[in-house]
Amino acid sequence: MKERTIVKLENVSFKYDREWVVKDVNLEIEKGQFLGLVGPNGSGKSTLIKLMLGLVKPVEGSVQLFGKPLKQYDDWQEIGFVSQKANSFNSGFPATVIEVVKTGLVSRIGAFKFFNKKHKEKAMDALKIVGMEDYAYSNIGELSGGQQQRVFIARALVSDPGLLILDEPTVGVDAKHVTEFYELLARLNKEQGITLLMVTHDIGTITDHATHVVCMNKTVHFHGASEEYKEFSDEDMNQLYGHPVQQLTHNHDHHEVNHYD
Ligand code: ADP
Repeated sequence: MKERTIVKLENVSFKYDREWVVKDVNLEIEKGQFLGLVGPNGSGKSTLIKLMLGLVKPVEGSVQLFGKPLKQYDDWQEIGFVSQKANSFNSGFPATVIEVVKTGLVSRIGAFKFFNKKHKEKAMDALKIVGMEDYAYSNIGELSGGQQQRVFIARALVSDPGLLILDEPTVGVDAKHVTEFYELLARLNKEQGITLLMVTHDIGTITDHATHVVCMNKTVHFHGASEEYKEFSDEDMNQLYGHPVQQLTHNHDHHEVNHYD
């Protein structure tokens, strides 16, 4: 295994009951990559992430994280996770932005221990990185979906992760702000050196931002640099999705893209 390999899946298969939902997946994510994971609904993308987060065990094959087999891996601080449901706070939730970000430190310092000045600085630094420092004392519920999602990225950043996994993070982000959201992710990748894995439905725009793309439907159908993915033919995509998808290419409106799932 290369020293720079952060995630390695070897012949991984998984089923919840009788049917395989992930089958014979071989995948390596190397340090410094910004990997977009695409595929139709129900194609096993979230399950693949659960396998990487150790939430489910492979039925066949093996998972390695930062060079260690899943069983021996225990430094979960290294892996940040932001889900699509993160931005579901309604205006009644009584927490400020900085409080939400500090909860990202709980597993490091232990629940019910007092946060000190250093922790506050760390939380503020993370908010600066995502451009939300001016909202530190706003109520989380008052923010837009896109702003909340930035706060949840800051929450993941306080533990200095080497790998950040995002499951459809642009759901709930206003279409107008999706591009700047991707630019933030690209900045985290380039300037902070964080390896990114992002599940997305934005087939048309992901290649503008991600360095690499994985296209899956139970198994991996394409894995390569974003430029190569642009060469992946419409026919290949139609076959993978089971219906014509070429009209999605270069469609920048996220909500319309979801419409075709
Ligand atoms: P995707 O993220 O690509 O939409 P998922 O990984 O969520 O795909 O789901 C893959 C398949 O596994 C789907 O058929 C889904 O219905 C099934 N599935 C997902 N989670 C569970 C679960 N907890 N129990 C049983 N089946 C599940």
